[in-house]
Amino acid sequence: MPLATTPPTKPQKKAFGIEDLVSLVSQHNPTGDKELIRKAFRFSTEAHKDQKRSSGEPFINHPLEVARILAEFQLDTVTVVTGILHDTVEDTVATLEQIQKEFGPEIAALVDGVTKISKITFQTSEEKQAENFRKMILAMAKDLRVILVKLADRLHNMRTLHHLRPEKQVAIAQETLDIYSPLANRLGLSSLKRELEDLSLRFTKPEIYYKLMEQVAKKLKEREKYTSDVEAMILAALKDHGYQDAAVTGRPKHFYSIHKKMEKRNLTYDQVYDITGFRIIVNSVEQCYGALGLVHSLWTPVPGRFKDYIAIPKANFYQSLHTTVVGPGGERIEIQFRTAQMHETAERGIAAHWAYKEGKEDPKETEKFTWLNRLVEWNRDLKDPNEFLETVKLDLFSEDVYIFTPKGQVMEFPQGATPLDFAYAIHTDVGNHCIGAKVNGRMVPLKHKLKSGDTVEVLNSPSQRPNKDWLKIVKTSRAKSKIRQFIKVEEHEKSLAMGEMILDRELKRDSHNLKSLLKDGSLQKVAEGFSLKNVPDLFSSIGYGKISAKKVLTKLAPPEQQQPKQETQGLQRIFEEAAKKAPARHVVKVKGIDDLLVRFARCCNPVPGDSVVGFVTRGRGISVHTRKCPKIFDSDPHRLVDIDWDLTKKTERNAKIRVVCDDRPGLLADMSKVIRDQNVNITRAQIGTTKDKKAVCHFTIQITDVSSLRKVISTLEGIPGIISVERIQKKQS
Ligand code: MN
Repeated sequence: MPLATTPPTKPQKKAFGIEDLVSLVSQHNPTGDKELIRKAFRFSTEAHKDQKRSSGEPFINHPLEVARILAEFQLDTVTVVTGILHDTVEDTVATLEQIQKEFGPEIAALVDGVTKISKITFQTSEEKQAENFRKMILAMAKDLRVILVKLADRLHNMRTLHHLRPEKQVAIAQETLDIYSPLANRLGLSSLKRELEDLSLRFTKPEIYYKLMEQVAKKLKEREKYTSDVEAMILAALKDHGYQDAAVTGRPKHFYSIHKKMEKRNLTYDQVYDITGFRIIVNSVEQCYGALGLVHSLWTPVPGRFKDYIAIPKANFYQSLHTTVVGPGGERIEIQFRTAQMHETAERGIAAHWAYKEGKEDPKETEKFTWLNRLVEWNRDLKDPNEFLETVKLDLFSEDVYIFTPKGQVMEFPQGATPLDFAYAIHTDVGNHCIGAKVNGRMVPLKHKLKSGDTVEVLNSPSQRPNKDWLKIVKTSRAKSKIRQFIKVEEHEKSLAMGEMILDRELKRDSHNLKSLLKDGSLQKVAEGFSLKNVPDLFSSIGYGKISAKKVLTKLAPPEQQQPKQETQGLQRIFEEAAKKAPARHVVKVKGIDDLLVRFARCCNPVPGDSVVGFVTRGRGISVHTRKCPKIFDSDPHRLVDIDWDLTKKTERNAKIRVVCDDRPGLLADMSKVIRDQNVNITRAQIGTTKDKKAVCHFTIQITDVSSLRKVISTLEGIPGIISVERIQKKQS
């Protein structure tokens, strides 16, 4: 057997043409759609016609070579055609719609998948990041054939890498080692993996690569003789024992694995004993074990080196028996035993499962899902954290999304995650102040669902605060717990302010002064009397309704001086009630406390912008009056609270106006037009006439603030025939 190493580049003297491709496909897939392949070639040639590769050759050679690699892997026609078309959407004016129209939805989806993966770039070689990046590629691919095309694309680019600038060579080779060769390995494409690794080594560590080449060459004759001797000995023994069909091959390990071994064990090339690996291919599983026994009787096995990957296959489906024996001349040799089918899986991995299967029912879906199910099952048994399976399972069923930070880091999220999850993953403060995000440069709302490959930039505002609705938006437990934590703290602060306000009011009624009680320490004593640490704890206990303000008063002054007033209890209950009921729509602010139950007094019907005051009602929260409302002058001043409109919240209020005018035709139409022209809705209109032939109109209109009301009134006043316009704040009697 001649010794062959992976050549740095494949000799490409005679350009590989479309008919070569067609006949290559026909070898394994005689019924494959040859016309479709030729059509894809014409389409791609036309699309790439003005492009050249760095080598100077026509661009079309690249997709053709990619398709060739896919055909060598015996993949189905659809995958081969995708290989021919894979760069058209990304690099030319051709569109996905055109491909869909010409080649159908399946091929269009595959080309789209390859294009999407090609658009993302990987920037760091940190292992955790590389792992996330590999997962992202798998998650984005959806169809495994997308990855097969991408790997073939990368392989051809690596084979022609010497045409690029040196800095680019190193970057691409490094990316290949970080991302693509591990992917190939995990999908069991070991021949592809070996070639990617050796090509990468050549560009990342050329001195080592060429040294190894030299050393291998120097011992080539010696090696070849030894290899063929061992092959002959094994084969003779096998034939003697009835293994007529057995095949034995010895081949040097690839450079990258020799290099890794030298590096790991700190060895020189001469110290690496198992440069050559032997492989025995037999007809059945029993024969694998039988042949193993024979070899062990021929040479002494090295203890601890036997591995049974037939009984327990590797995560990527690899199956074989491995052993190391002390061979001729005392040299250790590694030998693998497998069947032809195991060999196929070992070399082509998942590609073997995607091969075109003639005549089998439902070749694609069944194959795909059988493969996946086995993958998932085996993963369950293996429990080896170094193995890949869980990842494949997650990604192919798309349970995760992978997101880029603006700096190119990749982060992993559960499906359905939103910009808020992303923001909280970066930092709690970033989450708490998040008002939205840019996804791939576009503004999106907080509830936007992220997709793999998105680049997310969080937008912050210092005034933003989390609220309970956010809990419905986020997916990650981290974000949930951070939001809950914030709300808890905020509620505590609210109860603190509420408690202080209630106590302050009660103290005033009793001619006490909160400030001086704080100063002279009497409140601190009261707090301690309730077994509380300090005054804030006292406030919050009052705010939460655990302690009544009245009880605090009894601790301050002797009971006989108390003026029993029913209202004190009522007031506190009302505030508690109000806080509990907390309607979602609160349009006024009370000393920074929102979430209060608020109603608008019908006596003066205030609208946003009016100067207002709050009246603490019994059990109905705070009622909002205008400051001029006569009812306010009659009210208990102790029950009045300072309030203000929360102008950040838009609210529509009904206002009433009364118009007196001449009774002339068309005037009503004129008036309603004027009102509507101001973008104000009329919800009700009522017309009457007086004895002196005047018309009296009552309009109920919807406004968002008092200035728009004023504007309506002044515009109406300008209409000829209008005598008076006034706002009505009293209830109609
Ligand atoms: Mn390409």
